[in-house]
Amino acid sequence: MSAITIKQDWISDEGLQRLLELLTEGGEEARIAGGAVRNALQEKQITDVDIATTLLPQDVIDRVEEAGLRAIPTGIEHGTVTVLVDGTSYEITTLRQDIKTDGRHAVVEFGRDWEEDASRRDFTMNALYANADGSVFDPLNGYEDVLRGNVRFIGNAESRIREDGLRMLRFFRFFAWYGQFRPDADGLKACVRMKDRLTGLSAERVWQELAKMLAAPDPTRAVLWMRQTSVLNVVLPESENWGIDNLAPLIEAENEYGWEPDALLRLISIIPPMEERVATMVERLKLPNRVRDRLKNWAESGEPDLSMKRPQFHEQLYRGSVSGMSDRLRMSVVREKASGNEKLQKKAAKRLKQAEKYKRPELPVKGQDLLDRGFEPGPKISETLRQLEETWIGSGFKLNGAQLLNSL
Ligand code: ATP
Ligand code: MG
Repeated sequence: MSAITIKQDWISDEGLQRLLELLTEGGEEARIAGGAVRNALQEKQITDVDIATTLLPQDVIDRVEEAGLRAIPTGIEHGTVTVLVDGTSYEITTLRQDIKTDGRHAVVEFGRDWEEDASRRDFTMNALYANADGSVFDPLNGYEDVLRGNVRFIGNAESRIREDGLRMLRFFRFFAWYGQFRPDADGLKACVRMKDRLTGLSAERVWQELAKMLAAPDPTRAVLWMRQTSVLNVVLPESENWGIDNLAPLIEAENEYGWEPDALLRLISIIPPMEERVATMVERLKLPNRVRDRLKNWAESGEPDLSMKRPQFHEQLYRGSVSGMSDRLRMSVVREKASGNEKLQKKAAKRLKQAEKYKRPELPVKGQDLLDRGFEPGPKISETLRQLEETWIGSGFKLNGAQLLNSL
């Protein structure tokens, strides 16, 4: 075997080196594990560095605390301790073996065997380790798969999915980020057979994987294969009749306009803008409030009328949701682009700019102004304010406070 070595700056980070040294004292072992090694070998950005060690969780805590570092037992029953070094957090997990798995949860046993620890992981490309000097330890021959962008289940794909159905979504998530060409044929076949195991998974975990998949630089092919295997249908039935044809032109529009990759907009591009369906989806996937609000605003906003004059448009923005209208307009840009209608695409893009710059003006009359004018405190105040607001909107937001009060 030829030696593979990672020669990148992040590995010589002082805090990381100090931590690895601390964990390896007294004959113990510690290595960088999983995502960081995979990303380094594909020369992709490293977001966080996870560490695997032979030390037991409590010993990890004792050692790092003795060295004056902060340890947080984030997932101690699964062997994970989070340690903070100079403001960077590291997840340190004791080598383990999954003894029992019921499709959702695993009973774990700690061990000292690196090969066992590698084997309980999901894909070969996620089962690589690196020593403090950057030399790579690859017990399951994941290196080839990393280089070829081949997301391959460790062991028998079907049995691994039976242990944990979420791995189907992880299969497509990692394909979206690190895959090339077609997804692994065995993995695809296993997903087709096992897709029913997606129901009954924790909604939060499902959404987490979906969101990460959709955040990939270009998730189009992953989504296509999810649809092909009917996995998409199970987790996102909303997309079934609607179709996923808007996703590819959305990615093109992102590139053309410099829009940041946006997992939610990508989701929006493959589901129908129907309030009821969105509400059902929000409930089923237990979506966080931030996500719920954005989808709700989008669904409620209605289709933008591009022939509208600017004052009408401002009125619509004032009365409705700017975020919802912006998302609608983004999708208008995408659809016009897809159908090759340059003129309408330009129009939609211009409207979108206006919406993005829009600042909701404030009614220049307050309740206090009415009290000063001798109004009695009570419901009449808010009623009058609403009336004045309509007059103000009717003037194209032009009338000032004095003019409005005079109109009474
Ligand atoms: P990311 O950069 O997205 O965080 P990652 O590889 O770190 O990628 P995580 O979901 O954080 O992915 O998981 C960390 C590691 O734990 C994986 O690389 C994999 O080896 C293992 N792992 C996580 N979830 C599972 C699972 N459901 N089944 C088997 N192994 C898993
Ligand atoms: Mg991770």
